[in-house]
Amino acid sequence: MKDTMKAAVLKELETIVIEDVPVPEPKEDQVLVQLKATGLCGSDVDGYTGHHPMIKPPIILGHEGSGIIAKCGPGVNEWKVGQPVVIEPFFTCKRCPACRAGKYNLCTHLKITGHQLPGTLAEYVIAEAGFVHRKPDNVPFEEAAIAEPTSGSLHAVERCGIRLGDFVVIIGCGTMGSLTLQHVLNKGAEVLVSDTVEFKLKKAKELGAHHTLNAKNEDIKKKVKELTDGIGADCVIEAVGLPATLGLTVSLVKRGGTIMLIGWSGKATDPFNLTSLTLDELTVLGTLGFCNDFPVALKMMSLGKVNLKPIISHRLPLEDVEEGIKMLRRHEEGVWKIVITYD
Ligand SMILES: [Zn+2]
Ligand SMILES: [Zn+2]
Repeated sequence: MKDTMKAAVLKELETIVIEDVPVPEPKEDQVLVQLKATGLCGSDVDGYTGHHPMIKPPIILGHEGSGIIAKCGPGVNEWKVGQPVVIEPFFTCKRCPACRAGKYNLCTHLKITGHQLPGTLAEYVIAEAGFVHRKPDNVPFEEAAIAEPTSGSLHAVERCGIRLGDFVVIIGCGTMGSLTLQHVLNKGAEVLVSDTVEFKLKKAKELGAHHTLNAKNEDIKKKVKELTDGIGADCVIEAVGLPATLGLTVSLVKRGGTIMLIGWSGKATDPFNLTSLTLDELTVLGTLGFCNDFPVALKMMSLGKVNLKPIISHRLPLEDVEEGIKMLRRHEEGVWKIVITYD
């Protein structure tokens, strides 16, 4: 094996350099994964621009990776070199109260690949042996890389307790919104998807959304009232993270309904109607990453119940990571999910 590898290093804010760096050595209970695909994510853009609380340069970005086992560290017997895997990008302490309670996504010492530890936008990356998953044979590497947001959106949807026939509003149809849509449809709900980008709404329709709405020219409050006989949605899922759309959730949900905030603005306060929250007995939920969701997400992908093909809009080589991040940042027409592929 080589001693050095190519990596896309965020050297300082808004500067990514492709560098030769040493191939890392897996420690106890770790594996080295040779990457085949990495999904670019909104949090890579936030890290690039300095708007992500956990990402500080210099660091190798990227946390949505799939590849093959290249080397096993001491004590790792369950993996063999050459096995195709998907990386769950977490490192946890296994000792804190959250870890001991099985809620490892809330680990006090949680570290995330591409956030505080070297990421997947390189030829190789280190992962915890207990946090890599076998890639299903019928899921290609580029789709397997997107198991990360598929798991994250699944974690959020599972927390909502959606029931058959519920009316669910999804605000935002980026990667998370489009995956959330598919999970909610699998729950047997009626779904309205709102966005401001026409091609994403068209795709949402193709993925099975019952109703779509362009928030630029249509009043979502009116539409939800119409579709629910004035009652409001059973559940509203926010997947944008702008103060205005976070605040909007309260006016769309029914009395006693549930709000899931996948998006977050990073501000200490957001315009949220706390009076309605109390007097309408609303439930407001947050979500962080995933916790035992990867195996389910991978199974749904393998069964064809979550379709990633239409979401991948671009494939780029490692050399073009910075260009890919800029494309996402510009919200270019036709750009949805960009996947970096290797070799
Ligand atoms: Zn991501
Ligand atoms: Zn812990």
